[in-house]
Amino acid sequence: MTRPNATEIIMTGPLMAYAADQLKARFTVHELWKAEDKAAFLRDVGERVRGIAGGGHIRIDGALFDALPKLEMIANFGVGYDNVDAAEAGKRGLVVSNTPDVLSDEVADLTIGLLLSTIRQLPQVDRYLREGKWLKGAYPLTTSLRKRSIGIVGLGRIGKAVAHRLEAFGVPIAYHGRTRQADVPYRYYPSLVEMAADVDTLVSVAPGGASTHHIINAEVLKALGPNGIVVNVGRGTVIDEKALIEALQNKTILSAGLDVFEDEPRVPAELIAIEHAVLLPHVGSASVHTREQMGQLVVDNLVSWFDGKGPLTPVPETPWKKA
Ligand code: NDP
Repeated sequence: MTRPNATEIIMTGPLMAYAADQLKARFTVHELWKAEDKAAFLRDVGERVRGIAGGGHIRIDGALFDALPKLEMIANFGVGYDNVDAAEAGKRGLVVSNTPDVLSDEVADLTIGLLLSTIRQLPQVDRYLREGKWLKGAYPLTTSLRKRSIGIVGLGRIGKAVAHRLEAFGVPIAYHGRTRQADVPYRYYPSLVEMAADVDTLVSVAPGGASTHHIINAEVLKALGPNGIVVNVGRGTVIDEKALIEALQNKTILSAGLDVFEDEPRVPAELIAIEHAVLLPHVGSASVHTREQMGQLVVDNLVSWFDGKGPLTPVPETPWKKA
């Protein structure tokens, strides 16, 4: 929809109609992700664009900022914003917002589901029944959450929601992050290798980016040991995927449950061939309820900004102080 004189923004990926319709009612929206020749598209509209509703696979970085000289605000769809060069945005005086909190419970629920699915092999058991194998005998016994101890990598908003749920399961919980948190009852490990040696189940909810790249590596997987299970709902880049595949193939760890991958949506054939892993296509927050909440926060951030009230949920790289 085009309205003369309205504030112009681009969408870098598809948003559900719930949010996209609100944006189109308030702004002139240009759908960059639909353009075949993106450079020509940006030459055409770039001079007038003041905001971005971020999502999808287009990287939002200095090259895009260069094409949008009047850009002020980037509202990212998602709490993870490693697709946005927020440091560069900060240097240019731009503001970046994300969608924290509104998805934490949903992702934590999914994490528990993935953890139990991996431990009790629920997808494999389902396939066993459908393939008629039950008629020939019972499914082999699985490992258990009983007697396991869990190490959470990245005890932030989602990590804490996962830990809170795990408390009800009566399993010991530890965590690794860059800083010890004063207000949590779980054992802190400044060293990820040391935590991996002391627990048998790693649950990663750490963000992507340079500081977490491949922190779960061959050494950590070796420390976790042959009874080890790795669950990752944070970002694929946190795990050295090649080392993980080797550990699963050689059975130097027991299993893995993954919602995120290094090169999404491409998942290595070697990983797909590993029957004793559980693989999900990045669905942590993917319910209608939660995606609506996230979409609403994208809309609300852009509306608040262009009403002159500042962003609602700016990221730390582009802090915002109310005047
Ligand atoms: P938070 O910022 O609240 O928490 C992130 C945690 O990671 C913090 O506790 C932080 O602790 C820790 N952390 C950051 N850097 C490092 C590091 N270099 N080494 C170790 N720990 C680190 O984020 P949320 O909990 O809201 O979200 C976490 C991530 O979950 C998102 O960034 C996103 O990537 C992912 N996510 C995945 C979804 C899915 O669908 N699978 C859906 C939503 C989010 P400290 O600062 O002390 O190091």
